[in-house]
Amino acid sequence: MKSSLSIIAPCYNEEKNIEVFYKKILSFTKEIDINYKLIFIDDGSTDFTWKIIKNLKKNNDNISLIKFSRNFGQMSAIQAGIQKSESDYTIILDTDLQDPPELLKHMYDKNIKENLNIVYAQRKSSNEKPFKKITSKIFYKIFNLLVEIKIPERTSNFIIFDKKVLTQLKQLSEQNPFYMGLIPWLGFKADKILFDRPNRLDGSSGWTLKKMIVYSMDAIFSFSSHPMRISFYLSILMSFVFFSLSIYGIYSYFLKDAVPGWTSIILIISFFNMIIFFILGLISEYVGRIFKASNNRPNFIIDEQID
Ligand code: UDP
Ligand code: MG
Repeated sequence: MKSSLSIIAPCYNEEKNIEVFYKKILSFTKEIDINYKLIFIDDGSTDFTWKIIKNLKKNNDNISLIKFSRNFGQMSAIQAGIQKSESDYTIILDTDLQDPPELLKHMYDKNIKENLNIVYAQRKSSNEKPFKKITSKIFYKIFNLLVEIKIPERTSNFIIFDKKVLTQLKQLSEQNPFYMGLIPWLGFKADKILFDRPNRLDGSSGWTLKKMIVYSMDAIFSFSSHPMRISFYLSILMSFVFFSLSIYGIYSYFLKDAVPGWTSIILIISFFNMIIFFILGLISEYVGRIFKASNNRPNFIIDEQID
């Protein structure tokens, strides 16, 4: 039996790119001879994107369309596509041709030949604007410093994965899914290909600075057990600092005739600060646990099971 493939294509104001994108996808699917489903998610476009993809669907039953009621962001569009996919393989890529469809065949073949679950594409050098380059560099540095799973720099959501990964992704009930982190978090066998990221074919990036900040916060805080731990350790350290300070206060009261009133002030400050930091540490531990329970991720993921 032929295997099946879903292609998830989020689009936000891509009227000028969709048709070229579509042609390239068609030639890819012809080349590998597969049952495919092309899932367009119109993420609240204000241009003619929806009209164009509706027209494409008229002549092609392999196309599925989803239209959001407003702009919810690329991650939500990807999430909708993942929920819709049921295929053996799933591909996610941008529709502005910055993720060149020409590479899909190579990614697909690599996934099968090397018996992998995931193949992602990593930008080699990018001719992105300096601003984007710097902000993305800062993001990866902070993310990898704070978070226990590591994500390789310059990866994107240009990726192909098999049904095992799809099934797991569907079961996640994340509020703000950050797939770039979630997919490596799942485990499984992954490898990458390198590519030069071209400029957008047409139009402008749908990612405003505000969206980028919200996205980075989502990413970091949805994997944030480390920052939580930092506050816990900090509270222990601070308790120790204030404890030492009160010892010093008492010491100077008896041995170094301190200014009257100084010792009592130091003792009061230290005592209350110790309590406050201790309680903050406790609370941060509890919040960390509640956070972990509320994002509902499984404690483990099984690759194979033999009874
Ligand atoms: N996109 C989306 N919703 C948004 C912003 C972008 O669905 O709010 C889509 C967009 O149409 C494109 C992909 O996500 O297919 C990547 O977006 P963009 O090219 O704007 O991001 P950049 O390449 O600048 O990171
Ligand atoms: Mg782009």
